Amino acid sequence: MTSVVGVPVNPVPTQVGPAARAAEPAVRLAADLDALDRQSLTDLTAHNLAGTLAAIAAHPAARRHWFGDRETVRLGDLPIFTADDLARGSPPGSSDLVLDSAVSGMVLRSSGTTGRRKVLYHSWAFNDRVAALGARGVRAAVGEHLPRRVAVCLAPAELNGAFDFAMNICQRLGAQAYPVGSGMDRDELLEVMAVHCIDTLIASPGFATRLIGTAGAGERLGHLERLLYIGENMGVGRRTLLGSAVPGLRITSLAYSTSETGPIGYQCAQQNDNVHHLHEDVIIAEAVDAATGDSVAAGAAADLAVTVLSDTGMPLLRYLVGDRVRILPGDCPCGSVATRIDIVGRADQTMNIDSTTVSRDLVMAHLAGLGATDPATVQVQVLRDDQGFDLRILFADTLPGTLTTDAVRTELSRGYHLGRVFTSPTIRSFTVVRAPLSAFAGNGRGKTPFFVELSPTSTDPEETR
Ligand SMILES: [Zn+2]
Repeated sequence: MTSVVGVPVNPVPTQVGPAARAAEPAVRLAADLDALDRQSLTDLTAHNLAGTLAAIAAHPAARRHWFGDRETVRLGDLPIFTADDLARGSPPGSSDLVLDSAVSGMVLRSSGTTGRRKVLYHSWAFNDRVAALGARGVRAAVGEHLPRRVAVCLAPAELNGAFDFAMNICQRLGAQAYPVGSGMDRDELLEVMAVHCIDTLIASPGFATRLIGTAGAGERLGHLERLLYIGENMGVGRRTLLGSAVPGLRITSLAYSTSETGPIGYQCAQQNDNVHHLHEDVIIAEAVDAATGDSVAAGAAADLAVTVLSDTGMPLLRYLVGDRVRILPGDCPCGSVATRIDIVGRADQTMNIDSTTVSRDLVMAHLAGLGATDPATVQVQVLRDDQGFDLRILFADTLPGTLTTDAVRTELSRGYHLGRVFTSPTIRSFTVVRAPLSAFAGNGRGKTPFFVELSPTSTDPEETR
């Protein structure tokens, strides 16, 4: 049996025949989610689910796609919807999932780590809601201390909505936005931030670490009070580094959000690291086993499936986000009844090294015994050319000295898959390098991947200190 975790939403099947004309909007947003009591929130979510199902039912292609020939729908009876399902059903190849945004709105593309691209046709109304949820979430985190002068250092555009999202949040909070992007010269950016007394930085953890975590940057950023990060988990190592570079820096998630779903979670003032409240009025979260679709008990790590409640754009039902989460039991000390989720990490990341597929979880499982347990403090670099490849593992310079080249090679060679990498005829060398987190290689979108492929002529990270 599949149960909806968080709130028992539509335990009885909902008729998906012609929708009664409702006097109020089919999907409503709470102005302040944290002010609702449990019953009010449950009622609101149920109202929004019914509105979503009715909107889908009113659209023949979407109805067929989501409901088949069902006359009544119970969310938990629908199959889990995977990233591949979305890629197959998404525009421009198919408009089955698109309710009203086929010719107007915001088009986003989600790259994903593997497989097909997913394309989203979000309506302008949905885009407005994305911004409203983002601003509501930041308000919950900052309380009275609203951002005033904000440097938005996210990769702009390229069919990714993050930059626009952050700018819209600044507008709704009444802040002054500095649309920096991700390509500005580092010295020039530090200069701008100092001269304009920037108090808030919006960036990925990787970008922030490369900007702030290097020698001398902290002294130039005396006005910086808060980092609002998005795009990946912060990790303890980076949090510690940033906190020592800029004493008193408050580090908060801007949002837990994806291109496909819009904001899923937000942080209150009591939360840090990877714990978020759920935007529970418009998001139904389930912890499931991705392979079977079965529900997983609250508190256990599982794959996150979300239902995006919307009567416009491309609502998604039981969509597998690709993240591993724990749904936390009990209430938050902040007083909000909104469900809390702890993002354990992206569902496993993999890289194909010389015909052998190696996963992050596998590598980390081997390294744990040597004292490396936080994937954000490790980066596997493959330096490849036509003749072969060099394998290099970066460890944050704060990790224990047990992580030597010999010890790591011995440990990794024990694994069947990893062992094959070390016996590959085209491997030239293996080295372990100690490097500051700020010297880890980023990708074009400001993230710091666990696996990265580099040109053999790229700069040695030791020389970038
Ligand atoms: Zn809270």
